[in-house]
Amino acid sequence: MRSIQKSNKLANVCYEIRGPALAAAKQMEEDGHRIIKLNIGNLQPFGLEAPEEIIQDVIHNLPAASGYCDSKGLFSARKAIMHYTQQKGIKGVTMDDIYVGNGVSELILLSMNALLNNGDEVLVPAPDYPLWTAAVSLSGGTARHYLCDEANGWLPDIDDLRRKITENTRALVIINPNNPTGAVYPDDMLKALLEVARQHQLIVYADEVYDKILFDGEKHTAIASLAEDVFCVTYGGLSKNYRACGFRAGWMILSGDKRHAADYIDGLNIVASMRLCANVPAQYAIQTALGGYQSINDLVAPTGRLYKQRDLAYDMLTSIPGVSCVKPKGALYLFPKLDPKMYPIVDDQQFILELLQEEKVLLVQGTGFNWPRPDHLRVVFLPNQDDLTDAMNRIARFLDGYRKR
Ligand code: PLP
Repeated sequence: MRSIQKSNKLANVCYEIRGPALAAAKQMEEDGHRIIKLNIGNLQPFGLEAPEEIIQDVIHNLPAASGYCDSKGLFSARKAIMHYTQQKGIKGVTMDDIYVGNGVSELILLSMNALLNNGDEVLVPAPDYPLWTAAVSLSGGTARHYLCDEANGWLPDIDDLRRKITENTRALVIINPNNPTGAVYPDDMLKALLEVARQHQLIVYADEVYDKILFDGEKHTAIASLAEDVFCVTYGGLSKNYRACGFRAGWMILSGDKRHAADYIDGLNIVASMRLCANVPAQYAIQTALGGYQSINDLVAPTGRLYKQRDLAYDMLTSIPGVSCVKPKGALYLFPKLDPKMYPIVDDQQFILELLQEEKVLLVQGTGFNWPRPDHLRVVFLPNQDDLTDAMNRIARFLDGYRKR
């Protein structure tokens, strides 16, 4: 009998954050082992619950939320996003330019589905949040990875970016604050990226889902606020800033030169209508989240849990021989480098599996973020200080053993 095959479009799709190591960890848990999971940026399981007022909003509005809503989202949610857009200094946005989705994830897929023809190329950072590469590939396009420079605080390498542009390039993806590196881009870098987009008539896709998770007084600038002439799509949501990953509530905002993008916007509307609408109950939380008490600020302040955990993980990791790391300025991750001379890793997925089996700590390998060499790991710093200390000690012990092999 003919076997049932998956689509060829999945050939370049990888999503290692939920890859084989996670499956192995689940099996180990079923076998009774306790695994310390530093693999996913999901806040609630670490005691970082969503603000009570937004949970109450969803509960209170549940009876009214059983119908479909407008495919772009609830009016109240979009009004609140509109106000937020104004605070971020993004100009010329109307209610029609705001779409609510089932998390930023759905909107990324929707945006790529509506844009790409076979052979079209999209510039995606390396390392990246791998959904971007996957969404481009699944939509028939090709992700061309431009390097971010570790020696320069993981900022995009503009020369490399320019080298990757071809006549088929349609768009430029920017993840700021960045997952996995924690880089927050200064305005002059954003302006340089806009200049490239302007010259080559590229759409700018700005994934800014971590825009409130900023350390050391870092400020976030929405790239769309710096250019009224470049067509930008800016993504945000409740998952990270409001610790509500499971609500699946995100948004995207169109700005800049919408006149020349009219046909694409038509495409976006078609794809948005096809999935009817986003999860309605969670949309009720958006207005209160954006207008309410911003408790995330307390968590990222020097006295806050996230700040302390970032410092602890950074200090412990960088005290391991041969491990260096750019200190993250935002988001929830560290992306340390293992000196290849001391750790001559050939297959970093295998390395992660061995770490899991020996020390019961789950990380994600750097190549899972489309980083070209097997010499980085991504570490989530969400567990409390005791668990983080335990995890860092285990990683140190594993690396010690690895050096002595
Ligand atoms: N973009 C980035 C950079 C992320 O790190 C994540 C999740 O980790 C997402 C988008 C997905 O967010 P959402 O939960 O809104 O789908």
